[in-house]
Amino acid sequence: MPKILMYSVRPDEMPVIEAWSQANRIQVDTNEVEFNASTVDLVKGYDGLVIQQHGSIGGPEVYAKLKAYGLRQIGLRITGYDIIDLDQARANGLVVTNVPAYSPRSVAELVLAHVMRLVRHLGESTARQERGDFSWTGLEAHEIHNMTIGIIGAGKIGSTVARIFKALGATVIANDPIHRPELADALDYVGLDELLMRSDVVTVHTPLDQSTHHLIDADALAKMKSTAFLIDAARGPIVDTKALIEALKSGGIAGAAMDSVEGEAGIFGEDRSAEGYDNPDLRTLEAMDNVEVSPHIGFYTDAAVKNMVEIALDDVKTILSGGISEHQVD
Ligand code: NAD
Repeated sequence: MPKILMYSVRPDEMPVIEAWSQANRIQVDTNEVEFNASTVDLVKGYDGLVIQQHGSIGGPEVYAKLKAYGLRQIGLRITGYDIIDLDQARANGLVVTNVPAYSPRSVAELVLAHVMRLVRHLGESTARQERGDFSWTGLEAHEIHNMTIGIIGAGKIGSTVARIFKALGATVIANDPIHRPELADALDYVGLDELLMRSDVVTVHTPLDQSTHHLIDADALAKMKSTAFLIDAARGPIVDTKALIEALKSGGIAGAAMDSVEGEAGIFGEDRSAEGYDNPDLRTLEAMDNVEVSPHIGFYTDAAVKNMVEIALDDVKTILSGGISEHQVD
């Protein structure tokens, strides 16, 4: 019977792992450590490997050890595979798989939650109420069906956001180099400048790469309406945080919601209540009543966790039985 080892397992993943193991009659053992040169030996004696981390897995010696231990694959239960040296994997006969779409709904519904809070000024009214101020001044809201939602990057998540807001009656426009005919009933494609100038909500859903680093900079923010909101539930560095803070302070835009922020590593996902954290821009954003910050929880729903675990384990099973996974990364 094959045996699989999963690294960096959280308690919330255990029920799904145990159910999969029973249903497939395959032994799955787990640990809580990251996979790297100092932990690779733990996988000796196993047939399959599944990891989930953002730190590097190490140099050529790690790949050589996996080959020497008889491993044939590296299963990632996340989307990004930048932590893998694909040349090394190939050279050592290791098939790499990822989970390209564990649940676009998960991030899209967090975007909806943030937009509703911002549009109804709930952050501001809660802050006032804490001071005993129950007045209405400044709390008049727009209704979603009268709003234009601008989506930058209408891929798996962006198109799901589009469909949710379309269902609520909003006008949805998108900027993306790829125009997908199947989205014709949900959105209209426009240029980036037009999107920034027309939208009541601008929400970014591109990958982070050289072309999108600080895509939302001072120039882009200056093109937005002073009544508009910015949402980033993609990757922090797509937005220039300092320029965002200036735009918020000067009233250039009305508010923002950030599920990912520059310099979040080591803070988001951790309990830093005792030792604190050093990220002045994040602290500035958190102190603003018209800003919502969530600690990179867009992905974190029961459905998404189930998919991440099951898809990764299904792929290991396929590869160990000589098949080809549809999630192989070349
Ligand atoms: P995807 O690849 O399906 O879609 C990305 C889209 O962006 C594509 O349609 C692409 O053509 C478009 N694009 C690329 N460069 C662009 C540019 N310069 N301008 C406009 N459009 C551009 O990706 P996805 O799965 O929808 O993920 C979107 C983002 O969400 C990624 O940054 C991903 O890392 C992030 N994400 C965040 C969380 C979270 O927990 N908050 C979870 C999963 C994914």
